[in-house]
Amino acid sequence: RIDGLLSRNSETPILSFEFVPPRTDAMEQRLWCCIRHLAPLAPRFVSVTYGAGGTTQAGTLSTVLRLKRETDLIPAAHLTCVGATREEVDGLARCYRDAGVNHIVALRGDPPAGAADYSPRPGGYAYASDLVAGLRRIADFDISVAAYPETHPTASSPDADLDNLKRKLDAGATRAITQYFFDNEIYLRFLDRCLAAGITAPIIPGIMPVSNYEQIVRFSAVCGVTVPAWLRHLFDGTAENPELRRIVASLVAVEQIRTLQTYGLNEFHVSTLNRSDLIYAIAHILGVPPTQTNASRNVTDLLETTEVP
Ligand code: FAD
Repeated sequence: RIDGLLSRNSETPILSFEFVPPRTDAMEQRLWCCIRHLAPLAPRFVSVTYGAGGTTQAGTLSTVLRLKRETDLIPAAHLTCVGATREEVDGLARCYRDAGVNHIVALRGDPPAGAADYSPRPGGYAYASDLVAGLRRIADFDISVAAYPETHPTASSPDADLDNLKRKLDAGATRAITQYFFDNEIYLRFLDRCLAAGITAPIIPGIMPVSNYEQIVRFSAVCGVTVPAWLRHLFDGTAENPELRRIVASLVAVEQIRTLQTYGLNEFHVSTLNRSDLIYAIAHILGVPPTQTNASRNVTDLLETTEVP
């Protein structure tokens, strides 16, 4: 039966979306068109990443505050420790608190390009666990942290990395969002290890739709994410055919989410890279219905005059 094939799990998945802060006016327009397109899917929350080395940090703040001010979506602000003093980070956190932004994704961040290794800034938060504890002192934030099914590339061992995740949750984080992965087995074995270590907080799978295969291969090498041979085979010979690539990308993400659903998982954090068509298609195939919630209505009202670039 075709409906059986299309819907192995009758539960509609709960999605949250990750956006990237804009660097130019054109990127800003594109971001808000993307938000307008995806808002009717009623994401659980929408997060905005925080650029390394100061490049897009002001963009994170202004995007998150605008989401809070002008829409009913629940924004989550990514915040990192790297290159900032505690006072600077605390100041930003207070700014979010005062604006009613309650969800922070607390991260260490990566060293700036060209720096050999990470070294904490004197007077700054050294690691994400320290940041979580600092945020807790400022407000009763809902705090997400990062988890690495394939182990953080600079961790001394998988067990040390798991201890670190536990430290972050014990310091007051509510959930973890994982680094993206393509091999579900790796994530499922990681969940087993989390459970064995006594971690009971949700470990939300991070999903990265492959909108640009070559870029993903390069990025995955840096992040220590395995790109399986089957994924390479699926994208082989598609370089000149963007439409085919989009179809393949949406089916890969749908298949990944559907398979995870068969293990009882139902919440997924999807990276959008500010491209809504692919994400909307994935959500549509997964059976996530567009709704006319206040959130989507307000975003539509707000942006109805904005042209799609
Ligand atoms: P931590 O949890 O602090 O861990 C970093 C490393 O240090 C690990 O190897 C850990 O084992 C080790 N460690 C931790 N504590 C100690 C200690 N006390 N002593 C010695 N070693 C220790 N980056 C951005 O710049 N902006 C973003 O918006 C962003 N968003 C992300 C979202 C998600 C879902 C994920 C998975 C990653 C994101 N990143 C982002 C990348 C992240 O900043 C990097 O992976 C960074 O290298 C580690 O951040 P963390 O919060 O995991 O660090």
